[in-house]
Amino acid sequence: MPAAELPIVVIGAGPIGLAAAAHLIDRGLEPLVLEAGPAAGSAVREWSHVRLFSTWGEVVDPAAEKLLAPTGWVRPDAATYPTGGDWAELYLQPLADALGDKVRYTTTVTGVAKAGRDRVVDSGRDEQPFTVHVRTADGREERITARAVIDASGTWTTPNPLGGDGLPALGEKSAADRISYRVPDLRDPAVRARYAGRRTAVVGSGASAFTALAALADLATQEPGTHAVWILRRGIGAGTFGGGEADQLPARGALGLAAKAAVEAGHATAITGFRTAAVQRDGDRLVLVADDDRATEPVDEVIVATGFRPDLSFLTELRLGLDERLQAPLALAPLIDPNVHSCGTVYPHGEGELSHPEQGVYLAGMKSYGRAPTFLAMTGYEQTRSIAAALAGDREAAERVELVLPETGVCGGSGLFDQPDAAQASGGCCAAPATLQIGIGAPASSGGC
Ligand SMILES: Cc1cc2nc3c(=O)[nH]c(=O)nc-3n(C[C@H](O)[C@H](O)[C@H](O)COP(=O)(O)OP(=O)(O)OC[C@H]3O[C@@H](n4cnc5c(N)ncnc54)[C@H](O)[C@@H]3O)c2cc1C
Repeated sequence: MPAAELPIVVIGAGPIGLAAAAHLIDRGLEPLVLEAGPAAGSAVREWSHVRLFSTWGEVVDPAAEKLLAPTGWVRPDAATYPTGGDWAELYLQPLADALGDKVRYTTTVTGVAKAGRDRVVDSGRDEQPFTVHVRTADGREERITARAVIDASGTWTTPNPLGGDGLPALGEKSAADRISYRVPDLRDPAVRARYAGRRTAVVGSGASAFTALAALADLATQEPGTHAVWILRRGIGAGTFGGGEADQLPARGALGLAAKAAVEAGHATAITGFRTAAVQRDGDRLVLVADDDRATEPVDEVIVATGFRPDLSFLTELRLGLDERLQAPLALAPLIDPNVHSCGTVYPHGEGELSHPEQGVYLAGMKSYGRAPTFLAMTGYEQTRSIAAALAGDREAAERVELVLPETGVCGGSGLFDQPDAAQASGGCCAAPATLQIGIGAPASSGGC
């Protein structure tokens, strides 16, 4: 089949993968979305109980809305906040349904390479299409030939471990029955019973940690004895709780304020500068031990909310250009590096920043950020608009940036999202590189801290 007639494989039917498909169709290109789960937004559905801090107006992609229009789909009130479940049911699934057989479920991508060329071989490489290896739910293996590949498989399945060095803490794996890597759904009676009247260590200082602290504080008002021990790798400073009322996304600011209220009300006790090295059993309970030998009081449960990392295992035969720190595309990494951008503010970017030495392959969405926090869906939508334009040969549209992102309102400590190591930002500046500021017409406030 001539290369131009091959599909463009999109890995993942999450918000960004589906948006990519919509943009490709808008450009007259042929997408094929491969989704490991049984439904659209399979990862989002796993946090269906969490309310987004973005409104409906901020989490619907324009090309997707255009694709949905003929189906009679009506966007929910743009000013209201969906839960993950709402996002999946009321938007992602209808969008996937509108894409019809262009979305294949229970199809897990296990490998991507250049057809007939392993990573080492130069000869004829650029002319070869991609081969995408998949496994279906019934264990069948298949090869799909693709013109280009957009990997929007997210990072949900690869949370960071508890260990302060990025590896599992000693004893972490054997204590798995008491450790959760997600915000608990306390509406579920079984989950609620696990935390009610008990002590829970919450590790992390991003949005998920804030959400867990707020949920446990709420539970504490109904179930006496419920208490959270909040473990932070850094100290508590001006930016720890996010931008609060200065955040241009008010609900995102409110998450930090809710966590602060939990501490102030005595429902949570903070332990700072604590880098977990080991998890020890104390009878029925767990004790976390830091690398400086400090130990927590025994806790019943641990919630690890220390961020995510990309699964690159199925991309090893491709020539990717990834930043050594963040595992994000090389040109994107400096724009999102939490070591530098202490405000946690994100900057829009497109195909140019997402390109690799291997032409025609892109990481998009949450996965494109590697280990960096602060990804926003609207960033991913802009990425996919630009990638689709580039694949359609429209360089001018690919290079144009059509998005201005909201500022976090915090500086001197990123404090947002699920920080790998609370970003460790040490007074870095929130300014985007000068060239990019010009590109997006960023507000003056982003020009310095
Ligand atoms: C709790 C939480 C709250 C958030 N709230 C907000 C918010 O309010 N506003 C905002 O802008 N952003 C928010 N985000 C960040 C981000 O927008 C979401 O994580 C969003 O879901 C990212 O979309 P994605 O498509 O990149 O990845 P995902 O939603 O993770 O989708 C990836 C898809 O790929 C599939 N997949 C994975 N591996 C494979 C494979 N090998 N083969 C085939 N399919 C595969 C998965 O099953 C999944 O369906 C939040 C994130 C979390 C975790």
